[in-house]
Amino acid sequence: MPSRARGKKPAAAPATQAVHAGEKRHGVGGPVVTPIVQSATFTFESVGEMKRWAEGRSRADIYTRYSNPTLRVVEAKLAALEGGEGALVTASGMAAIASSLLAFLSAGDEVIATRQLYGGTYRLMRDIFPRLGIKVHHVGADLKGVAELVTRRTRVLYTETPTNPTLGIVDLRQAAALARRFGLTSIVDNTFASPVLQRPLAHGFDLVCHSATKYLGGHSDIIAGAVVGRRRLLRKVWKTMIHLGGSLDPGAGYLLLRGIKTLPVRVQRQSATALAVARFLEKHPRVARVHYPGLGSHPRHRLAQRQMSAFGGMLSFDLKGGLPAARRFCQRIRVFLLAGSLGGVESLAVLPIYTSHHHISKQDLAAAGVTPGTVRLSIGLEDPADLMADLKQALA
Ligand code: PLP
Repeated sequence: MPSRARGKKPAAAPATQAVHAGEKRHGVGGPVVTPIVQSATFTFESVGEMKRWAEGRSRADIYTRYSNPTLRVVEAKLAALEGGEGALVTASGMAAIASSLLAFLSAGDEVIATRQLYGGTYRLMRDIFPRLGIKVHHVGADLKGVAELVTRRTRVLYTETPTNPTLGIVDLRQAAALARRFGLTSIVDNTFASPVLQRPLAHGFDLVCHSATKYLGGHSDIIAGAVVGRRRLLRKVWKTMIHLGGSLDPGAGYLLLRGIKTLPVRVQRQSATALAVARFLEKHPRVARVHYPGLGSHPRHRLAQRQMSAFGGMLSFDLKGGLPAARRFCQRIRVFLLAGSLGGVESLAVLPIYTSHHHISKQDLAAAGVTPGTVRLSIGLEDPADLMADLKQALA
């Protein structure tokens, strides 16, 4: 693996890390902004160097599918923010998740995963893994039954917290400890929280995955992913990722780099607005239930308080009138845009049964706590008063 981010335990606060980590700004006339190195391939100094690279003794960039100078700067920032030894950027969140899982799973192996997962991850495990001879077991967010499910062939414990779309919370410390006890690689999707609100590696996780399309990119203009953790494990993920072809384009890497610089500011503001919106919705007579870990009514509010510094910009709610009421609500919103994805500056609303959780059976949706009338909101950077007014008129 060519040179990957050399992360250390962050000495500076996340806002400083986001701005400065990985950037080289020395000398007279150096650019403040890291440029896009838009080159598929890179020259060798000599045949001798070519040979050294082939023998694994040189870590030079030779081909952008393997590594790229712009992407290495992004990776250094991600490693610093998550507190990992290194990081790897990928072409999408799914490339990060699939490469991480397949790096540690072979035919005959088993994975234990929580049931409440982003629909794409769930479908990867349901539709693709059985074809590869990989067996998947699901457990609840409380991780009950993990010990009983572990066999000689179990390799990975996979989870996501907060969960998409109903904001379930998994105990990071408990999950990492269980994985360690049974010698499993622990992997968590940290997309909803971002490293600003929670850092799973500090709780003992081996690898953290992200859909960098969301908060890390932050502007709904790229598809990207990331994996952060120990260098030894990342090397395995990297080897899988380059052969599956999941490398990020440097142009998207540049936008990701720019997004990361404002990540802490955006996430703090989005978390504050989401809490206000969740409190407003909880009091509304048309709303049956609000799913937001920052509310005292959330079943795992205390746990969320322990492992998160704020509760994030995502929330969902169930309308009393079920699907017809949810459809009416979505037709009426004006400031919120009716669009999938999340974590950008525009506030978005979707019905998960038609977007992130399409093609999932009624039983599986019920088990994951998703109802046909569940509406998911991604809170952006608009004025909170405008968002609240929009919700009010749409619910009226
Ligand atoms: N993980 C979570 C929690 C997501 O919400 C998503 C996408 O919505 C993904 C992973 C997949 O990311 P991507 O669309 O960047 O592949």
